[in-house]
Amino acid sequence: MAEYGFDTLAVHAGAQPDPATGARITPIYQTSAYVFDNADQAAALFNLQVFGNIYSRIMNPTVAVMEERIAALEGGTAGLAAASGHAAQHLVFHTLMEPGGEFISARQLYGGSVNQFGQAFAKYDWHVRWADATEADSFARQVTDKTRAIFCESIANPGGVISDLEGIARVAEQAGVPLIVDNTLASPYLIRPIEWGAHIVVHSATKFLGGHGNSLAGAIVEAGTFDWAKSGKYPTLTDENPSYHGIRFYETFGDFAFCVAARALSLRDVGSCLAPQNAVLVLTGIETLPLRMKRHCENALAVAEWLARDQRVAWVNYAGLESHPLYPAHRKYCPKGAGSVYTFGLRGGFDAGMNLVNRVRIFSHLANIGDTRSLIIHPASTTHRQLSDEDRIKTGAGPEVVRLSVGIEDVKDLIADLDQAMG
Ligand SMILES: *Cc1c(COP(=O)(O)O)cnc(C)c1O
Repeated sequence: MAEYGFDTLAVHAGAQPDPATGARITPIYQTSAYVFDNADQAAALFNLQVFGNIYSRIMNPTVAVMEERIAALEGGTAGLAAASGHAAQHLVFHTLMEPGGEFISARQLYGGSVNQFGQAFAKYDWHVRWADATEADSFARQVTDKTRAIFCESIANPGGVISDLEGIARVAEQAGVPLIVDNTLASPYLIRPIEWGAHIVVHSATKFLGGHGNSLAGAIVEAGTFDWAKSGKYPTLTDENPSYHGIRFYETFGDFAFCVAARALSLRDVGSCLAPQNAVLVLTGIETLPLRMKRHCENALAVAEWLARDQRVAWVNYAGLESHPLYPAHRKYCPKGAGSVYTFGLRGGFDAGMNLVNRVRIFSHLANIGDTRSLIIHPASTTHRQLSDEDRIKTGAGPEVVRLSVGIEDVKDLIADLDQAMG
C-alpha cells in the first residue's frame, strides 16, 4: 500500500474485510492453534518453507494485521508484535547479541529501559555503554570491537530530548552495526527513523500508537537495509540454525530476515507474544493516530508556553519552544510537532512536585504516557526512584522535575488545572 498517504495507511494498512464472514473490522482470532490442511503442509510450516499459522505464540492473524500496519507507517519491510515495549526490546537484543557483547545506548531513556539495559541484560552478559543523544560523537567514543548495536529514542523520555538521529546513524554506519530507534514518543506521525538511517525501530505501542491507555503492546519494525553477513558479528542471522534443519535466516529471508529470526527463534523461545484482543485495541487506536498526534502537539505547545511565562516555574524543557536549545532539532526532525511528553522544573523543588501531583483534577497522576487523557508524574518520587541521585539527574529526573504527557482535552481546562494545582 506504499502509494497511499500516511493517514490512509493508518486506517487501512494490513486490514481487509474478513474473507470468511465479511466482517469489516479485523476479527479477534481468539485461538491458540490452527488446524493443518494435511501432514505435508504441517511439515512445510514447521520447516519455514511456507508461511502460515501454527500456534499463537509465534503468529496470530489479528496480531499480523497490527504488525503490517505499523511496518507500513514506519516504512519498513516487516513488523513483529510483542506483549509490551519492553518485550519488543528484549526480542531485538535477544536476536542480535551473544554473551560478552556490548551495545551503546543514549543515556536519555525511559527509566525502565535504563534498568533493562543496565541490569537485566547484564545477566545475559550483554553490556551497555552510555552516550549522549544530542551528541553523535559521544557514541563514536564508545565503539569497541565488541559493539553490536546502537540504541536511542527518537524523542527521549522523560525530558522530550530530540536525538541527533542523522549523526548517530552515521556513527552506526561507520561502526558497521545496526541503529535501533525507540520511536514511542514521536510515533511515525512525527518522525520516521528509517528515513534518517535507522535499521530497526521499536515501539511501546502501549503509548501513542494504541493511544488510549487501555492495553500493553510492543512492536519491532525492520528497515531491510542492514547487511547482516558483512561483519560475521550476527551468528543468529547468518549461521546454520540447528532448530530449523540448518536454515540460514539472512541467506533465506533477505531484507526481512531480522523479523523472521526474531519471531521463529526469539519469540518462540522467550514467549512474550501479544494477545489478539490487545492487537485490535491498538489497531483501533492507530486509525486516529494522525488526528490525535496533531492535537497532542498543539496542546503541548500551548501548555509549555503558559508554563514558561509562570513565576512558579523555573524552566520548561520543551523543544517546541523557540528559546529551547533543541528547537533547531525539532524543526529538522519533527517539524509537525515536538511531541507531547516533556518536563518542567518547579521553583519549589521536591515538595512542590509532590504537592502538584496531589492537587491536579483533570491531569491523572500515574506512570504512563501517550493517553488521550493528560497525565502527570513526579519522576524523582516514582518512575526514577530506583536510580541513584546521580543517574536521576543524568536522565533528566532531578528533584524539582515534573513530567507531563499532554492529552487531547480542551487546552484551557488543562492550563486552569495546572494553575490551581500549583497553588
Ligand atoms: C513505556 C515505554 C517503554 C516500555 O514499554 P512497555 O509497553 O511499558 O513495556 C519503552 N520505551 C519508552 C520510550 C516508553 O515510553
